[in-house]
Amino acid sequence: MTTKAFVIGHPIAHSRSPLIHGTWLAEHGIDGSYEAIDVAPADLPGFFARLRNGEFAGGNVTIPHKEAVFALCDEVDPLATMIGAVNTLVVRDGKIHGTNTDYLGFLGNLDAAAPGWSDGPNDAMIIGAGGAARAVLVALRRRDGGQVHVLNRTRANAERLVAEIDGPFQAHGFEDFAELAPRIGLVVNTSSIGMHGSRFDWLDMGRLAKSTLVTDIVYTPLETPLLAEAKAQNLRTVDGLGMLLHQAVPGFAAWFGVTPEVTPQLRARVEATLDQ
Ligand code: NAP
Repeated sequence: MTTKAFVIGHPIAHSRSPLIHGTWLAEHGIDGSYEAIDVAPADLPGFFARLRNGEFAGGNVTIPHKEAVFALCDEVDPLATMIGAVNTLVVRDGKIHGTNTDYLGFLGNLDAAAPGWSDGPNDAMIIGAGGAARAVLVALRRRDGGQVHVLNRTRANAERLVAEIDGPFQAHGFEDFAELAPRIGLVVNTSSIGMHGSRFDWLDMGRLAKSTLVTDIVYTPLETPLLAEAKAQNLRTVDGLGMLLHQAVPGFAAWFGVTPEVTPQLRARVEATLDQ
């Protein structure tokens, strides 16, 4: 029987997940499908009824449903609860399990592109304190590092975030960047700055140590202004596309029973769609 999976969202046409999972299905010769399904918020309970009836092995959840599905799942992974969003559903014995794979995507991307990145005692800096920052904090607390400094435009949002997630985390406003910079080993941008040509005007990359790794989880454009400035300072950089690719791995493995690989060919196929 064909094993079926999906991504639900509203709208959903922009999703690159069908390309990622379709590539892996073809690569492994699996009798399966992965389709994008537009589900309006009012239709979410009806879609979950289809899921319970066994139509699908599971699927992905994207905007605007990542929070609403909590109430509809039979069980939610504690880390997804901590992150505050479910992006992956797995149906087992008629029960719907919700999880979040973004933190694994973040770790998988850095492990593949910058092996050894979490070795050493350096502090890390996260810029932004929204939903994506929560996933990165959850990822970083799984590695033994130094302090994690969360810098946000609205300092109160950073303070709320570090109060909610247990770990060696401190909240700051952007004005603290210059003082913190010399002891930072990893800079992660999780804010929307960098999208649509917006840029940082307060960040003096010259204050970072030359060994600092700079990564941006924004991947449109692939080379964000932050990464361009880091390269100009000869700092190591990792772009955010790999996070999207790596977060897809656990879902595919759970639905189709094969752990797929993030290959350069897959990356090239997805990269080719970025300016569309
Ligand atoms: P979000 O919850 O809306 O949070 C947005 C963050 O950006 C907040 O900290 C906000 O600060 C800050 N911000 C927005 N505009 C700003 C500006 N002009 N100047 C300074 N700060 C600004 O968004 P999110 O869900 O965390 O997503 C953030 C980005 O991550 C998006 O671009 C998304 O596409 C990307 N993302 C990528 C992946 C991946 O797989 N690579 C996964 C998830 C998300 P305030 O608190 O002050 O408003």
